[in-house]
Amino acid sequence: MRKTYRICTLPGDGIGPEIMAEGKKVLAAVGKRFGVEFACEDALIGGAAIDATGGPLPDETLDAARASDAVLLASVGGPKWDTTDPAAPRPEQGLLKIRKELGLYTNLRPVQIFSALAGASTLRPEVVDGVDMMIVRELTGGLYFGRRERFYDEPGAGADGKPGQRAYDTLEYREYEVERIARQAFEAARKRRGKVSSVDKANVLETSRMWREIVHRVHDADYPDVELEDVLVDNAAMQLIHRPATFDVVVTENMFGDILSDEAAQITGSLGMLASASLGDGVALYEPSHGSAPDIAGQGIANPLAQILSVEMMLRYSFDMGDAADAVRSAVTSVLDAGLRTRDIADAATPMECVLGTAAMGDAVV
Ligand code: ATP
Ligand code: MG
Repeated sequence: MRKTYRICTLPGDGIGPEIMAEGKKVLAAVGKRFGVEFACEDALIGGAAIDATGGPLPDETLDAARASDAVLLASVGGPKWDTTDPAAPRPEQGLLKIRKELGLYTNLRPVQIFSALAGASTLRPEVVDGVDMMIVRELTGGLYFGRRERFYDEPGAGADGKPGQRAYDTLEYREYEVERIARQAFEAARKRRGKVSSVDKANVLETSRMWREIVHRVHDADYPDVELEDVLVDNAAMQLIHRPATFDVVVTENMFGDILSDEAAQITGSLGMLASASLGDGVALYEPSHGSAPDIAGQGIANPLAQILSVEMMLRYSFDMGDAADAVRSAVTSVLDAGLRTRDIADAATPMECVLGTAAMGDAVV
């Protein structure tokens, strides 16, 4: 009997349904080639869910996600649901809620340069040549979830003798939170080039000193085969644009990861190419890094490659189908090497007949 994987597909809003169709096309082709079945079932999220049910994440969607082997999301949001009414439901709440409900504490963001697109980077081609890294960002701890407060100090505290304002945010990590993210990073490294760069600020922060200790402890006990280096976050920010090709897996806490992953994304120069995965201890969620691109929705010109590369990640991380994932990656590479482009990654030198729409690009990959 053929193995069946159940995938909860969430097309969402804007270009979401258009790029999701291409992700499914690729899944069907992979199933055929590798002898497995992918049973995709659509559910509602975001603006589409608000329109149909009044809320951005219906219980049925959450149930369907929990019952699936993996979740594939396209994108949510758009001007239709923009509102200044704080009580009105917003599409993005659906995304935050599903991440929380599924306990997704790891965000994986691959940053890869397809050599055919090296010219699109903001960096020189010889610097970006061969860039292929994975940023592993802790998603549920640190400054973004710490205690915070803002208040007026006692009179005289301000420079001019008036009461001055004061505010603080606390950066806190628990041992288990660091340990589990470290494991995700080492596991990812084993499926890649076997190197982890752990980014912290251990010369200043206590959380970073604990982070470093725990990462090394996990490494020495269970992953001695993986190469491990510590990099201070300021140095990491510099090295990312100085020698990006030397990074394999980069693991870091929530805020450092937020900043560094945007910096790293810019190295590739093309939003329509970046996939992401959010992992926890159960079902994982895969989605493009870009948004719903309302400015081009419904025109059939969106780039489906970030969605297709999210499928690649799903095959690799949820289904342990490394060969199938490699096949998807190499299909994307050869399509680009053949000079085929969607509008967002085309340039003045691209012949008109090589500029494809969303569906034609999906067909080319298949
Ligand atoms: P969000 O707030 O949801 O992250 P955003 O404001 O970052 O959204 P995006 O929706 O990511 O914006 O779009 C930013 C720009 O990139 C838009 O001009 C959009 O058309 C373009 N873009 C994003 N994704 C794609 C894609 N897959 N193909 C082509 N262009 C895209
Ligand atoms: Mg954005």
